[in-house]
Amino acid sequence: ILKGYIDRAPLESDMELKVGNQIKLKISKGCNSVLVKNLYLSCDPYMRARMRDFQGSYIPPFVPGKPIEGFGVSKVIDSDDPNFQAGDIVSGFTGWEEYSLIEDTKKLRKIQQHDIPLSYHIGLLGMPGFTAYAGFYEICSPKKGDRVFVSAASGAVGQIVGQLAKLYGCYVVGSAGTKEKVDLLKTKLGFDDAFNYKEEQDLDATLKRFFPEGIDIYFENVGGAMLDAVLLNMRVHGRIAVCGMVSQHSNHDKEGIHNLFSIIRNRLTIKGFLQSDYLHLFPKFVEQVGAYYREGKIVYIEDMNEGLESAPSALVGLFTGKNVGKQVVCVSRD
Ligand code: NDP
Repeated sequence: ILKGYIDRAPLESDMELKVGNQIKLKISKGCNSVLVKNLYLSCDPYMRARMRDFQGSYIPPFVPGKPIEGFGVSKVIDSDDPNFQAGDIVSGFTGWEEYSLIEDTKKLRKIQQHDIPLSYHIGLLGMPGFTAYAGFYEICSPKKGDRVFVSAASGAVGQIVGQLAKLYGCYVVGSAGTKEKVDLLKTKLGFDDAFNYKEEQDLDATLKRFFPEGIDIYFENVGGAMLDAVLLNMRVHGRIAVCGMVSQHSNHDKEGIHNLFSIIRNRLTIKGFLQSDYLHLFPKFVEQVGAYYREGKIVYIEDMNEGLESAPSALVGLFTGKNVGKQVVCVSRD
């Protein structure tokens, strides 16, 4: 793992780095890079799409032979960028390795909120939390009293969408794939109701049971059969925020959608979005959601795997629902 760092480090300079007492490296002054020790790594569904090169992807594939990239929380060991100093805790794009040399330092964020668990900066206050924030406020056009349905509701994004919707005064139901997750939605996460979609024979009938008057907002995380059933249950002028379709990542799991006529009948607005288009809102998000957390208005559930070696199975687990809450891998605690 360290080899990845050594190979990529620009050599021949007067700056000397020590990693433990074992290894000495020199990197050139003026390279503007930052050497970090990775503490927490994020497992996210979009990473599956980076494992193949296909037309229509919005992100380039991983490069075979190079460490997997993803969001992480890291400690700066040494820096040739004046904006960062040894000891700073940062979040941003890093490698699935113990130490990373980060050359593109513009996207690194120095973590200022030390009263919030560090790993939350790749969850609640990181990309997934921001996806929930941007998706709910910017795409769903919520109104107080709206009936909101969230799929993959106990996951990294869904659990925040549901809580933001409750704080907004909406009626919120979530779906998830185990009894444990459904119980968490109804107790710890404060959803009005929840169901295990794997135990339901007829999703259309299930949604009619939970939403006898129909759904105003559907926050779409899964796609496939759930989306088809939701289309039959949307109210006139309903909104569907298409955040993700986790059921569609694997080629073998593609299902057709049959109920598209509902878009016309119910004058629906269906809008896909990428959180990265809304980054101008990030500071406001950190302030607002950070305050909600400190005030006890929002909680966050994490699923923490220990050790870098556990990262591959943690990532794969997202596609079978093994994770309960935001999937994080702890590489080191300090
Ligand atoms: P989660 O933490 O929710 O993990 C994925 C969950 O999806 C699993 O735990 C599982 O929960 C559910 N799932 C897996 N396979 C299936 C399947 N075949 N059918 C139905 N449910 C399934 O992930 P995130 O919260 O990080 O991401 C949620 C969605 O948001 C994803 O689609 C992701 O791609 C998308 N996303 C989009 C972004 C954007 O900018 N548009 C940014 C970030 C995420 P269960 O046990 O409940 O089935």
